[in-house]
Amino acid sequence: MSFEAALEKLHLARPVLKNESMARHTSFKVGGPADLLARPVSSREVAVLLQAAAAYAVPVTLMGRGTNLLVRDKGIRGLVLKVADGLEEWAIDEETGLLRCGAGLSLAAAAHKAAELGFGGLEFACGIPGSLGGAVYMNAGAYGGEIGPLVAKVTALDEVGKEHSFKSEELQFSYRHSALMEKELCVTHVELQLSLGDKEKIRATMEEIKAKRRSSQPVGEASAGSTFKRPPGAFAAALIDQAGLKGTRVGAAQVSLKHAGFIVNTGGATARDVLDLMICVQEKVWEKFRVRLEPEVKIIGEE
Ligand SMILES: Cc1cc2nc3c(=O)[nH]c(=O)nc-3n(C[C@H](O)[C@H](O)[C@H](O)COP(=O)(O)OP(=O)(O)OC[C@H]3O[C@@H](n4cnc5c(N)ncnc54)[C@H](O)[C@@H]3O)c2cc1C
Repeated sequence: MSFEAALEKLHLARPVLKNESMARHTSFKVGGPADLLARPVSSREVAVLLQAAAAYAVPVTLMGRGTNLLVRDKGIRGLVLKVADGLEEWAIDEETGLLRCGAGLSLAAAAHKAAELGFGGLEFACGIPGSLGGAVYMNAGAYGGEIGPLVAKVTALDEVGKEHSFKSEELQFSYRHSALMEKELCVTHVELQLSLGDKEKIRATMEEIKAKRRSSQPVGEASAGSTFKRPPGAFAAALIDQAGLKGTRVGAAQVSLKHAGFIVNTGGATARDVLDLMICVQEKVWEKFRVRLEPEVKIIGEE
């Protein structure tokens, strides 16, 4: 039996997509086709998909909401497991402030739902479009906050669908890094410790952060957020700006005119355009400041 036939026997809630353009699943709107793309709706579905892929030695690529990904133009061989809508449960213990979420829920949604009940801690995350799973993997953060310190427990499945759980300290969070990057695990649930606060204050902080983003970032344009990590002692966006690179283009990829830290797809950019522009930015910043910019976006797929 072929792998595709084996997948059909799993009777998943949603069909596995074949030869699916990754441009449709990434905020950059860039990327070639995935051979197969599954959208599980439960931990059980994640487990059976991982088990089937392991049994057929099919490579698996994990993704969340695709907001930090640059998929190369030839796409992805094997199975893409998209943990996004479908794994979005949300429950808070109003006594303790312990929030348990499906890994597919967006950080922004988690922040807003918590705020409605007067729970704070996630204000920084209200404009981050990624999933909880992607956020703990990346240790997402903004405006002085990070997900790492809020994590109480992360539940993840290994390549044969076996469940593992981790406490915050086991995940060794640091700037845009977690120990999940060194493991082949699919995060299915995240527990965060929030704290009860003043509802109005929480809402006001979130409004302030959203206004700051709208005024300084190309919100609504196709991008993957900050292209490069913050180098030690400097800001990538400031270096790129000072190197005179705002507005620089390769094909339809452009260094945002609004925020030099973002590369935007102005319409129909290829991954090659984005990669060439990233190289151009890295070279110019190195020539001018002797600083090496390291990508924050995860670059995956075949050239
Ligand atoms: C407009 C915009 C603004 C942004 N602002 C910020 C910001 O302020 N701060 C910030 O930190 N980021 C920001 N980002 C980037 C992005 O939202 C975060 O990195 C986010 O955490 C990525 O989550 P995701 O679900 O989209 O992950 P994806 O992009 O789908 O994947 C990113 C990585 O996480 C892994 N991953 C995803 N889900 C899982 C899972 N369930 N299990 C195991 N591994 C998984 C993937 O394998 C991949 O390596 C921004 C992006 C955009 C488009």
